Amino acid sequence: MFPSVLPTYNRAPLTFVKGEGSWLVEADGRRFLDMGAGIAVNALGHAHPALIAALTEQAGKLWHTSNLYNIPQQQALADKLVDATFADTVFFTNSGTESCELAVKMARKYFYEKGQPDRIGIVAFEGAFHGRSHAAIAAAGSEKMVKGFGPLLPGFTQVAWGDHDGLHAAITDTTAAILIEPVQGEGGIRPVPDQCLKGLRDLCDEKGILLIFDEVQCGMGRTGKLFAHEWAGVEPDIMMVAKGIGGGVPLGAVLATQDAAGGMTAGTHGSTYGGNPLACAVGTKVMDIVAAPDFLNAVNAKACKLRQGLEGLVASHPDVFEGVRGVGLMIGLKCKVANMDVVTAGYDAGVITVPAADNVVRLLPPLNLSDEEISEALSRLQASAVAIETAIAS
Ligand SMILES: *Cc1c(COP(=O)(O)O)cnc(C)c1O
Repeated sequence: MFPSVLPTYNRAPLTFVKGEGSWLVEADGRRFLDMGAGIAVNALGHAHPALIAALTEQAGKLWHTSNLYNIPQQQALADKLVDATFADTVFFTNSGTESCELAVKMARKYFYEKGQPDRIGIVAFEGAFHGRSHAAIAAAGSEKMVKGFGPLLPGFTQVAWGDHDGLHAAITDTTAAILIEPVQGEGGIRPVPDQCLKGLRDLCDEKGILLIFDEVQCGMGRTGKLFAHEWAGVEPDIMMVAKGIGGGVPLGAVLATQDAAGGMTAGTHGSTYGGNPLACAVGTKVMDIVAAPDFLNAVNAKACKLRQGLEGLVASHPDVFEGVRGVGLMIGLKCKVANMDVVTAGYDAGVITVPAADNVVRLLPPLNLSDEEISEALSRLQASAVAIETAIAS
């Protein structure tokens, strides 16, 4: 019989029934240290008391109305995001891919309103991931994601990682925007060097095109700044957010300057659920906690400790690992053995990690994990590495 859940995922044989902070409990009672956090979604871990309180309080009052009416919870979160970032305005979505859709539409509409309707081109990068909608798969352009799904949405090109000449060649008089993750997530935790982000900003200014950052994975405190681009001191015109912003509730957003958002007038875009009271009540609480300077300082301190431990792990298991990379608590372990072997050995050792491209294992733990949990994660990763070495030797 065909599975009742569409089989688009190769799922691990794990069924989690409860989450407590940085821990997941399996149906059979085993406890796993969650260094994946639902792929950077559970920014504050599982069952955070303040988020439970925000959710249950709102759940008792009002879940959903419609964007036909004012939504104070949405207004509150938008105000906080605008205060804390480059942006003047925010549209709420339910996912990263929806944020990608709007970012692309917004960039094209910007030039349409400026009397340049032919400027529709979006220049993106190889190894990128922007979601699974037609615009998002066309932007990433990977064979695996686009094959079989009919004509590709036109107007997208991909430049190879670090190919400066290719980038300049890709920008033409029909280019509307450059779209980039400041730290590639699915692509294998590849941070874009600060000077390259600066160079992209300069190039966009020089050519009069828009710069779109996809901070769906690297944003919301993940790198130790509220948004990753702050490390480079450059600002985008449009930014996609999702994953961590809802702390586990489906929530995303597109942030933009007033200028870049200029074409998005009443009736040009919408969403039934986007920014509903329930999601925004939780998102506002996540934002209050994550955007606090002390919280971000703590993320950086934890990131230092974890990074140091991982450098040691890599050095003592040179047949398993090749190196560590990333920013803050967005860390990639480049593997010598197959990355899935490391992830699977982690399951046996009671630690959850997430595979990425380029044979990398990702660590995206809750941003508030404790120092003891960092030590525990390191010892469980150590046990995974030893198990792999033992298997290789026998
Ligand atoms: C996960 C991700 C997306 C897509 O988000 P969904 O919520 O799965 O649609 C887009 N961009 C980046 C960088 C991501 O990591």
